[in-house]
Amino acid sequence: MTEQLSQKHPRGLYVLFFAEMWERFSYYGMRAILLLFLLDNMRGGLGLEASEGTAIYGLYTASVYLLTLPGGWLADNVFGQKKSIWYGGIIIMIGHIVLAIPGGTGLFFLGLGIVAMGTGLLKPNISSIVGELYPEGGARRDAAFSIFYMGINLGSVLGITIVGYLGQKIDWHMGFGAAAVGMLLGLIVFRYGSNTYLRGYGEVPPKKIVTAEAQAKAGTEKKLGYGLVALLVGFLAILQLTGTLDMTTAQGLAQGAGVIIVSVSLFYFLFILIAGGLTPVEKKRVLVLMVFFFAAAIFWSGFEQAGSSLQIFAERYTQRTIGGWEMPSSWFQNFNGTFILIFAPIMASLWIFLSSKGLNPSTPVKFALALILVGAGFFVMEMGAKVAVTGQLASPLFLTVTYMVHTIGELCLSPVGLSSYTKLAPKRYVSQLMGIWFVAASLGNLIAGLFAGGFDEKNLQQMPALFNQVTLFSIGFGVLLLIFWKPVKKWMGGIS
Ligand code: GLN
Repeated sequence: MTEQLSQKHPRGLYVLFFAEMWERFSYYGMRAILLLFLLDNMRGGLGLEASEGTAIYGLYTASVYLLTLPGGWLADNVFGQKKSIWYGGIIIMIGHIVLAIPGGTGLFFLGLGIVAMGTGLLKPNISSIVGELYPEGGARRDAAFSIFYMGINLGSVLGITIVGYLGQKIDWHMGFGAAAVGMLLGLIVFRYGSNTYLRGYGEVPPKKIVTAEAQAKAGTEKKLGYGLVALLVGFLAILQLTGTLDMTTAQGLAQGAGVIIVSVSLFYFLFILIAGGLTPVEKKRVLVLMVFFFAAAIFWSGFEQAGSSLQIFAERYTQRTIGGWEMPSSWFQNFNGTFILIFAPIMASLWIFLSSKGLNPSTPVKFALALILVGAGFFVMEMGAKVAVTGQLASPLFLTVTYMVHTIGELCLSPVGLSSYTKLAPKRYVSQLMGIWFVAASLGNLIAGLFAGGFDEKNLQQMPALFNQVTLFSIGFGVLLLIFWKPVKKWMGGIS
């Protein structure tokens, strides 16, 4: 690993590293204080109920990842990656500036929407240029992605520290403003760096020549798309009319979004399985991607509670005073990024070491481990919650251990999942399926938000049981995957 990391990389990688670092500074920095701001009714926050605030948190974080689908499409078909990153960055910065203006609920939600759109345009495209820098693929590309992942987490640590501190200790809007400044720095790095070091990469795509055959195919796909939209609208209308969902509330809206995301993803998988013209080997691989999709969604739905239920736990029920100084509760979210910076090189070396002995666990086993680890983290939280319900503040060790276990899980799933999606996807579906990988994160974030809706100060007694549910669910699915890892691996058809 260290040998791979020290190999010479193109300067362009470092331009992308710093641009993404600042973008993540703004994303994670703002996210760290988002829920606190939504719930706060003492220092000029929006003072929402827990169920509404957490649903909005879920909707926002889910939109960020869902909008990577149109973002990727726009880059592939209209702007090229470099322009998309540039425009995306400008939109993100404008969004944070809007958030920095103390102008009430409407303006705040507008700002959130703008940030989500900009991130959708920037996030998938910056990672795909990293891949473009290494057309030969192989270990150098993997090493480049590890370096890039470090940039992501360095940005998150800096962002949470600075934005979290300013937002919680001084003024919410000053925190949001700091996120805008971070994005501005990212734009400056990208503007100057990309002119010199990314020439010829991510350029505007050439106009496609449309054949009659392609046109006919696009026509059929359009009709199918309209059919699906009509079906979904009908289904949601039934849910609303029968009172199953109430989409006039943020919580109902988030649940509706969940129905849409799950249906569209299932439909997409079925569509390429049935009408995608795949060979039997490719079909099996797509089925594996479907299993990984659901496993990833479950993983993120636990993991991404970092910004929801775990944030609430840090704020309300954790002992945070050290020698008279109170640590901002958002700083706990930093433990993930810090543990990534520590464990990423260790885990990468571990995989290389195990490979040399022929013992490297297969991808389904790593996914299963990730799920079991996220469940184990929530088991620790259940213990912490049992202390909190007695009225005592819980030791910060509970959250520390949970974050450590969750981070090791993330390293078993996130980089491994990214690369297996590029490897297992049939060639002509690679970028679409890459988008579906982010949709799993979107779904996970949505559930992570919705789940935290139960964390009401009035239902304090239920807290251990709520954490227990996450434990059982993730460990259950993890064990199932562990039992069936062999057939799943076989379906991967020789790709590990
Ligand atoms: N933490 C990583 C990032 O921000 C991965 C997030 C995800 O895919 N859910 O890029």
